[in-house]
Amino acid sequence: MTFWIVTGGASLLIMTFLFLVFSIYNLLEKEKRAFWRSSIFFFCSLVIILVFFLTDLPFIKWLGGGIFILLTLGLLILFFSPLKKREIEIVGDQRRIDERDIIFSRFEYREGTEIFDEYYTRKPEYKKRDDDIRKFPDILSPPHMNKNPVLFSLAAAEFDFLEHQLTLVDGRESGEKVCLAPSENTRMIKAVIKYLGSDLCGVCLLNQAYVYSHVGRGPENYGKDIELKHKYAIVFALEMDLEMVASAPDAPVIVETGKKYVEAARISITVADFIRRLGYPSRAHIAGSNYQAVLPPLGCEAGLGELGRLGILITSKYGPRTRLGLITTDFPLVVDKPKKLGIQNFCQKCQKCARCCPSQAIPHGEKVEENGVLKWVLDREACYRFWRKAGTDCAVCISVCPYSKADNIFHKLVRKTTEKSAAAQSFSVWADDFFYGRVPSRRKSSIGKLRNP
Ligand code: SF4
Ligand code: SF4
Repeated sequence: MTFWIVTGGASLLIMTFLFLVFSIYNLLEKEKRAFWRSSIFFFCSLVIILVFFLTDLPFIKWLGGGIFILLTLGLLILFFSPLKKREIEIVGDQRRIDERDIIFSRFEYREGTEIFDEYYTRKPEYKKRDDDIRKFPDILSPPHMNKNPVLFSLAAAEFDFLEHQLTLVDGRESGEKVCLAPSENTRMIKAVIKYLGSDLCGVCLLNQAYVYSHVGRGPENYGKDIELKHKYAIVFALEMDLEMVASAPDAPVIVETGKKYVEAARISITVADFIRRLGYPSRAHIAGSNYQAVLPPLGCEAGLGELGRLGILITSKYGPRTRLGLITTDFPLVVDKPKKLGIQNFCQKCQKCARCCPSQAIPHGEKVEENGVLKWVLDREACYRFWRKAGTDCAVCISVCPYSKADNIFHKLVRKTTEKSAAAQSFSVWADDFFYGRVPSRRKSSIGKLRNP
């Protein structure tokens, strides 16, 4: 056997093995389309191997050499094509956001109340569009409940539970301070958060640009100035169940959202209390809602991930398939650095969420400036309008995002490669469409079978 036959044969064997592994992963992940397509590739390469090794073709040497050179060149391009990573660009002054203006606050104002009249007299520009959205039934309201009483009741119970936690977020710190080095404190807090259930956690300085200016919802007085002077923000992320998210925008997704918000509230309230017992001021920020700060940009600064086209944080491990939690504190800590993961570059090429969004709320084009930052700006009203039509928090964009794939060895390798190589990003965008579909179909989750008794 010549050198070219050996190298060509070895290349074919490796390629066939990789298709086999990919098929097995797709089977385990219940990705039907990707399973069939990768299996076809596997069987085709198996046939080529049989022809290669079992027949006596006159041009076998050239065939082996060609396969080896093509595959080697392909891999070299894939792994060593430099990527000039794009970053979030701050292009102007960032003013603090007024929580009264965010869409979730606006839809808590009840018609005929003082707050409703005060708000829309001050902000008449929102009135017409908001009234139009109000024609649709509220999320988790009776018209939606009737579609699936079991799952929607479960989600309603989760969100009601959160409502009862809203006043537990703060308290008085103990008089005696436990003094450790900031590095020790950080290590301990991250270990505690991991023990309580989150393995993605980062620390940053609390940038005042991301603290809301006025209270818009929750138990505190509407319109009150927010003074949150803590030095540090501890941000953590909880993975959402892949199967539940894959059923988006159906009922299981809001059950999963509620579950993760409850878990995030449990962790942040416990950790904030724990820090206060060590003698330092600390406040939990929980959904439901009692946030005093905007979480996604703090998640970026704490090194958890990057903002994506779909308008939320894409984490390094689970993509956007997470819910975030936040604790602010003066407990001395060591801050993490923001990470450059190449996600902004990937989103530039991908657009899958924009294509699949049922309300076309995600922009297909370039970033634009909003509040001093260049970013893809979501049409929040269009998005929320669809939530009220669906009766859930939709999450189709989260479900279809290539970064939302399972955190297994196979997808880890893809993420690592796309982090560094421009060619790998282009190839991944194409391969994701080819194997999983340009518009992936929703899947039924096992809890989705829990319908009306
Ligand atoms: S689907 Fe594509 S464009 Fe959208 S956030 Fe995910 S990677 Fe970015
Ligand atoms: S949640 Fe749904 S409607 Fe909103 S941006 Fe994502 S895909 Fe679009």
